[in-house]
Amino acid sequence: MSQHIHCIVSDCHYYAQGNRCNANEILVSTDDFAVKQPDNVDCTMAKQLTPVKAGNCTATACKTYVSKGSGDIRADGVQKMS
Ligand code: SF4
Repeated sequence: MSQHIHCIVSDCHYYAQGNRCNANEILVSTDDFAVKQPDNVDCTMAKQLTPVKAGNCTATACKTYVSKGSGDIRADGVQKMS
């Protein structure tokens, strides 16, 4: 089964033309979780994380986001697909 993640966050390292996400996996969390946890807490740790409730869509975030050109692009262990 193929999965397509559509995303319009154009300054993300994983953003691709056509508003697509080219990360091999992503972690969606709450804003609160994303702000408090370091960059290495991401997809590779997903099975160990405790589920949380957001309440509405504006309280969710893509934890996998990393700025283009950032020195932190390898911190989360996520791969960019070609
Ligand atoms: S990692 Fe998240 S923010 Fe970045 S392109 Fe993919 S879905 Fe968008």
